[in-house]
Amino acid sequence: MDKQQEFVLRTVEERDIRFIRLWFTDVLGMLKSVAIAPAELEQAFAEGIGFDGSSIEGLTRVYEADMIARPDPSTFAILPWRGERNGTARMFCDLLNPDGSHSLADSRYVLKRALARAADKGFTFYTHPEVEFYLFKPPVPGQPLEPVDQAGYFDHVARGSAHDFRRAAIQMLESMGISVEFSHHEAGPGQNEIDLRYADALTTADNLMTFRTVIKEVALSQGVFASFMPKPMAEHPGSGMHTHLSLFEGDRNAFHEPGAELDLSKTGRSFIAGLLHHAAEITAVTNQYVNSYKRLWGGAEAPSYICWGHNNRSSLVRVPMYKPGKGNSSRVEYRALDAAANPYLAFALMLSAGLKGIEEGYELPEGSEDDVWELTDAERRAMGIKPLPQSLDAAIELMESSELVAETLGEHVFNFVLRNKRQEWDAYRSQVTPFELQRFLPVL
Ligand code: GLN
Ligand code: MG
Ligand code: MG
Ligand code: MG
Repeated sequence: MDKQQEFVLRTVEERDIRFIRLWFTDVLGMLKSVAIAPAELEQAFAEGIGFDGSSIEGLTRVYEADMIARPDPSTFAILPWRGERNGTARMFCDLLNPDGSHSLADSRYVLKRALARAADKGFTFYTHPEVEFYLFKPPVPGQPLEPVDQAGYFDHVARGSAHDFRRAAIQMLESMGISVEFSHHEAGPGQNEIDLRYADALTTADNLMTFRTVIKEVALSQGVFASFMPKPMAEHPGSGMHTHLSLFEGDRNAFHEPGAELDLSKTGRSFIAGLLHHAAEITAVTNQYVNSYKRLWGGAEAPSYICWGHNNRSSLVRVPMYKPGKGNSSRVEYRALDAAANPYLAFALMLSAGLKGIEEGYELPEGSEDDVWELTDAERRAMGIKPLPQSLDAAIELMESSELVAETLGEHVFNFVLRNKRQEWDAYRSQVTPFELQRFLPVL
């Protein structure tokens, strides 16, 4: 038993923890949980806990249904919403096959593999997500959604429920060791944003899984409903998850080069070039639902075209304002991602795309400071600016022929995502919608 495992056992005893939830993530990014009693903990560390993986999205084929979840003691945290007495704690798990090998269906392992490839080149990958979401009054089926307020971007609402909400959520996150950097009201009514402090990508991905749960829990406790759906209301902005990315070599930011254009090093430029080059083919994962494309093509500052810029909020990749004297804050912001993505897979793909740019020495095209939505198609073409896929269908097709995505996800996850997303597209396109009835029935 190692030191971290001993620490967990001791804490469980001292803090009177009665339930330990083992958390893992299915291929679509949904959180799964199984609770064990403290007495099972030693065995869980030694051998893991067996479960039937066949009913969980993307985990196993039916004829090899047994899977093992082995908790990672470094992720131990007490769940504050379960109360002080007879408490509950959680740990994220690695998924193993019965023979002890890593399960190729484990998205956490997909990210670990990508991080190991970066480490071979001397890089650590950091991410900092800005998570947007809406707060609604509890939805009534068939009725329009009702946001909890009518406020807008950075609005301070006197006695607004969103303040209390953000304060409670942030306290809960901080008590679980998840640091929050900013929070504010977003542009849509009832829309909020909370930005997590940057950390290594595996920690951030774990933190995002916790974040989504915490937001849902706090919403329930306050009698409201929280949603990360990318575009819940056609007439209001969607919820994205802009993510700031950086590579470090030891404690040096590899994107930083004083004196260079935007103080951006060659490594940083090639990383952006890789992101742009592979953006279209990773979109089925960074924006994985049919609804994601309503956000991407619905305006309101969501990116639709593949280009980069410095202060250009219409671009897919942005190099944010650089703080003089703070070289380690150099980073690039990828703006397509939404919070409904599987963060492990999405981070693995963004990293692989950027690394490919570095390995192959891709040239970074000219940055664009135009509002690319205002340009004509011909102007965009002349500037070499291509669109992101416009639908899940188009995104799947691009992913299907991507070597980068196949390699990064591994065959099992790659095939599962394609199969699942094709089914989703088929289910979606076979609907006859209210739009069609309203538009066509009276006249056709
Ligand atoms: N909600 C916008 C999006 O969908 C982002 C708005 C912003 O943070 N500038 O990406
Ligand atoms: Mg922001
Ligand atoms: Mg925002
Ligand atoms: Mg942003």
